[in-house]
Amino acid sequence: MQTAVLVLNANFEPINICNTRRAIGLMMTGKASLVLNGRGVIRTISQEYPRPSVIRLEKMVKRPRPQVRLTKREILRRDEYTCQYCGQQTSYLTIDHIIPRRLGGNHDWHNLVAACPPCNHRKGGRTIEQAQMHLLQDPKEPPASATYIFARHLPQNEEWIQFVEGW
Ligand SMILES: [Zn+2]
Repeated sequence: MQTAVLVLNANFEPINICNTRRAIGLMMTGKASLVLNGRGVIRTISQEYPRPSVIRLEKMVKRPRPQVRLTKREILRRDEYTCQYCGQQTSYLTIDHIIPRRLGGNHDWHNLVAACPPCNHRKGGRTIEQAQMHLLQDPKEPPASATYIFARHLPQNEEWIQFVEGW
């Protein structure tokens, strides 16, 4: 019942992920309809319900365009788990403020990068110029496309790709 279900807005825009239990609740109360199952059925004593993979809300929900949240996990994902100074790919990475906070550096997509501990230590509280280091690329805000936002769910849910691409 904890399997991820993709939730589409009434206009088919992918807006959320919920679990099977919540999805069935939305369907049973008429708030959403089944778009795709393909996951078999759920049996109760008296009835069978299709196990949803994708559902669609009956009423359009107004919501701001989804954005990628500024979290450590999302910064590492944007930087492809690669130290942005030395290029080492490792699962143990820290976040570096390119312009240190005490020098007025912002906590935003343009000032935060993945850094391996040795590079972060070497740079210390200095700017890249002072530390004579270089960035592999200019850090940017990642695209707010549905494909990017839901990317981590797509390998296990390939059938969602057709509903996610292009938004
Ligand atoms: Zn490094």
